[in-house]
Amino acid sequence: MMDFGLDREVALVTGASSGIGQAIALALGRAGVAVGCGARAGARAAETASRIEAAGGRAVTIEWDVTDSAQAGAAVAAVEQAFGPLSLAVNNAGVGGGTPALDMTPDQWQVVFDTNVNGVFYSCQAEARAMQQHGRGAIVNIASISATIANRNLTQAQYNSSKAAVVHLTKSLAVEWAPLGIRVNAVSPGYTLTPMNRRPEVAELVTEFADTTPLGRLAEPEEIAGPVLFLLGPAASYITGVDLLVDGGYCCW
Ligand code: NAP
Repeated sequence: MMDFGLDREVALVTGASSGIGQAIALALGRAGVAVGCGARAGARAAETASRIEAAGGRAVTIEWDVTDSAQAGAAVAAVEQAFGPLSLAVNNAGVGGGTPALDMTPDQWQVVFDTNVNGVFYSCQAEARAMQQHGRGAIVNIASISATIANRNLTQAQYNSSKAAVVHLTKSLAVEWAPLGIRVNAVSPGYTLTPMNRRPEVAELVTEFADTTPLGRLAEPEEIAGPVLFLLGPAASYITGVDLLVDGGYCCW
């Protein structure tokens, strides 16, 4: 009989200091997973780790800028030193950017690709190098509905195309690493109530997002964590290379 539990697993989550990444790290901790909480700002990631420990879980803080390929191996090594072989990873760290394409500077383009695409690749590579030594692993990359649609009323060509790259990178790595026992999937959130979407200045836009979503509201960060845990776990043992839309039906309209 299949055991769908995640306890005894060891995970690394990038961007664990805020929003969706924090909700995923906390949910993994509650599921009995030992969690490496990564972010550039160590103090903010440490807060997530403390919350996991306060709830009886195991966690360690990893100060890590995902745009620096040289830091990825050390980040994985730090988690393995704390808890043993890495078996799960969630590459969630990402940045937005809203600039009309005609006005966009090379720097505005580059900063989004450095984090959202290069950062996800460097992270996946370091994680899979460790996982292949143990013969198994599962990785989830956080993409976005913006990989599938060009968001109405938002000018963010660099963000949209970076997330499309995350989805195809995910599929490419899934087929390349399937023989190693490593599954690679993507989760694409719709509009989610993270700090970015709770700012008073975007209240009007957020109402519009809710009105144009079949479920009539934005997602809570925890509602993204559930599908991530499903894809990481044994319940998804025959799933690799998918992009799971978690968008309240947004892309149906
Ligand atoms: P958020 O609250 O701004 O959190 C972003 C996280 O990424 C923070 O923990 C941040 O930590 C980390 N981060 C940013 N740049 C980093 C870097 N270079 N190296 C390491 N960590 C870095 O964002 P969110 O709304 O939760 O979004 C999380 C992910 O979901 C992103 O990939 C985003 O594109 C995607 N997404 C969000 C929504 C939404 O509506 N919120 C919808 C679709 C997809 P530090 O600043 O401390 O490093």
